[in-house]
Amino acid sequence: MSAVTVAEPRTVSSVAVASSSRWWRDVTAAFAWAVVLFVVALWVAGGGLSAFGSAGDGLTNVGRLAGLLASALMLLQLLLMARIPIVEQAWGQDELARVHRLVGFTSFTLMLAHIGLVIVGYSVGTGAGVVGTFLDEVAHSPGMLLALAGALALVMVVVTSIKRARRRLRYESWHLLHLYAYLGAGLALPHQLWSGQDFRASTASTVFWWGLYVAPLVSVLTFRVVVPLARSLRHRLVVDHVVAESPTVTSVVLTGRNLHRMPVRAGQFFQWRFLDGPGWTRANPYSLSAAPDGRSLRLTVENVGGSSGRLAGLRPGTRVLVEGPYGRLHAGVRTREKSVLIGAGIGITPLRSLLEELPPGPDATVVIYRIGRRDDLVLSEELVSLAATKGARVTAVVGHRQSARDSWLPVEASHVDDAEALTRIVPDIAERDVYVCGALAWMDAVIAAARRAGVAQESIHHERFGY
Ligand SMILES: Cc1cc2nc3c(=O)[nH]c(=O)nc-3n(C[C@H](O)[C@H](O)[C@H](O)COP(=O)(O)OP(=O)(O)OC[C@H]3O[C@@H](n4cnc5c(N)ncnc54)[C@H](O)[C@@H]3O)c2cc1C
Repeated sequence: MSAVTVAEPRTVSSVAVASSSRWWRDVTAAFAWAVVLFVVALWVAGGGLSAFGSAGDGLTNVGRLAGLLASALMLLQLLLMARIPIVEQAWGQDELARVHRLVGFTSFTLMLAHIGLVIVGYSVGTGAGVVGTFLDEVAHSPGMLLALAGALALVMVVVTSIKRARRRLRYESWHLLHLYAYLGAGLALPHQLWSGQDFRASTASTVFWWGLYVAPLVSVLTFRVVVPLARSLRHRLVVDHVVAESPTVTSVVLTGRNLHRMPVRAGQFFQWRFLDGPGWTRANPYSLSAAPDGRSLRLTVENVGGSSGRLAGLRPGTRVLVEGPYGRLHAGVRTREKSVLIGAGIGITPLRSLLEELPPGPDATVVIYRIGRRDDLVLSEELVSLAATKGARVTAVVGHRQSARDSWLPVEASHVDDAEALTRIVPDIAERDVYVCGALAWMDAVIAAARRAGVAQESIHHERFGY
């Protein structure tokens, strides 16, 4: 087992950070709504409400609005996923992924409505029929062939994101296909430029639409390419050593230059690329399992597949590239004085590092560690010794999961209500922040139980180890 190093608690005011992130959340949500309203306003200003002379005009006109909203939402969601630090910290990746999915499906539905309404609208009175009008538009209108290719790319992205289809794909394949969304957005632009009267209707609309296309492009390049590369070059991370925590769990300790300047907190995660061979092209998310001490970083990984299995064989000196840090599972989002950390299996890793940064005090932090079998305990010795230093309490909840109902408790405790179990372990849980990390369905059960036990929504912080 690795030694425990107790990090100095940060002096930053957690409550101030929590309220500033709530403020940014409201600002970004207001910005998104303002964009949507502005699109409608531009449509109205361009005569949207008056162009209902015939059935065909009416359909085309509504279709135009649907297309404009589809574009705006698609560009907004590229912005959402650009990992802009303020947005990422305000929402957290879990919530961003949920909103991304919702906005993505809405944008896609509007795009289909746009295509259908405009084609049917054009076809009224032409005698060419819907199919004929469609073919004519694709063949003769500027940019339309590219727009069709863009729409097909987006159809593929959406179809492969439907949960049932996604489960059949390897994560890597799904992610690669998902990147076609950028292509879809890029191919639709010329059609909007050439044929979209709204794009060129006024200076305001031209500036607005160019801004809406350029902002995601610049943000994605900046925050997903330039900043990670610059950070990796600046800190020159290398593998220092590897520790076998158990037959299936490995810790990797990294060192680098000026790590005390890296803006990372205990509980956060990076996307890691280990430059040890062909697998380096794939980035995997792993949390810090020890609080950053300015000299080293540590991650602890369970071997579940190709990339995670490679880590046990990493050689000292292997170069490492990182994207991040990401995630809101840190002490900065606290809303209360006391905390409960609830982790399952390998989900204990960010909570182990977070415990280092939380303030000490008798029973100030309670750790609930859910595992299937005692053999599944990871980092348990250092967790217990760290808890003793901090005045924290650790409770292991052991046993196999229930199949009869969705519950965070093991089958041996199937007679106990989920929320009651939490209040039995932590009677004042409603007065605490609750940090949760583990598998998706299990986390949903914990969060539901915590809400029923009286914990406020804004006091529950979570990171899902999967999408
Ligand atoms: C925010 C976050 C933090 C995480 N922290 C840790 C940690 O500290 N320790 C740990 O052991 N595990 C952690 N995980 C899980 C870990 O990322 C996956 O187990 C790992 O990427 C699996 O890759 P693989 O090639 O070994 O397995 P594969 O067989 O390729 O994948 C197994 C499953 O892992 C998930 N997965 C694979 N690649 C990714 C990816 N790039 N992004 C998201 N999910 C993926 C998918 O659900 C997939 O079905 C974390 C996951 C997330 C999302």
